[in-house]
This record gives sequence, structure tokens and C-alpha cells, in this order.
Amino acid sequence: MSSVPNETGARTCGRCGRTTKARDGVPPRYCATCGQALGAWPGRVRHRFAPPARVPGSAVAALALGFCAFIPFIGLPLGFFALALRGSAKQQIRRSGGQLGGSGIANLGVSLAVLGLVMQLMWYRVGC
Ligand SMILES: [Zn+2]
Repeated sequence: MSSVPNETGARTCGRCGRTTKARDGVPPRYCATCGQALGAWPGRVRHRFAPPARVPGSAVAALALGFCAFIPFIGLPLGFFALALRGSAKQQIRRSGGQLGGSGIANLGVSLAVLGLVMQLMWYRVGC
């Protein structure tokens, strides 16, 4: 149903229509293009490569700002902004009911932001 084996061992993907060639005479188990399971596989395996959950932009922004928190002077406000964005990212993820992922990304951004802010504060104290 999802694939058509042919004489060379190559299989055509039922999802994207691309043909994945056999390697060392062994027919491919998964589509090289989209990851669709090929051949007579149990239904549960077919969703093994389900597309990953989408990540809200605020989570990515929190991560980016977390990195920016290490920049002297401008990093201070950016770090706090990352903390604020993380809150909205978490809220979006919670409300999406599993449609959105990326809370790990938001957490990483916040960890970086906190680390950056601490470094900034130490730098201000030691510096001036
Ligand atoms: Zn495919």
C-alpha cells in the first residue's frame, strides 16, 4: 500500500513518490526523502518519523536572546527580554495541546540568559 518493490530492490514511497534505491541488494526500509516506512511494516512503525512538533517563534527568540545576554551592556536588557519571552512561549506551548513543542529550547534560552545576566553583573562589579 505504501510502497511498490521493483526488480532492482528499489522502492517507491507512497507518501512523497520518490524512489529509494536498494543498498547492497537490501531493499530500503525507509524513504530516503521523507522517512516514510516502506514495505510490509506494521502500522505503528509507519508513524515513527512523524514530523516533529512545531516550535513557537518566541521559544526560538528566547534562545537567541539568551545568547545575546552575554554581550556587554546590551545583553542586560536582552537577557530580561529572554526571560519574558520564555513565559509567553511556555503559554503558547501549553495552549496548543501538543501541537507546539520547543519548551526545551525556551528553557535553554532562559538558562543562557540567566548565565549571561550573572556574568554581566559580575563584570559590572569587577569592571568599573
Ligand atoms: Zn517519501
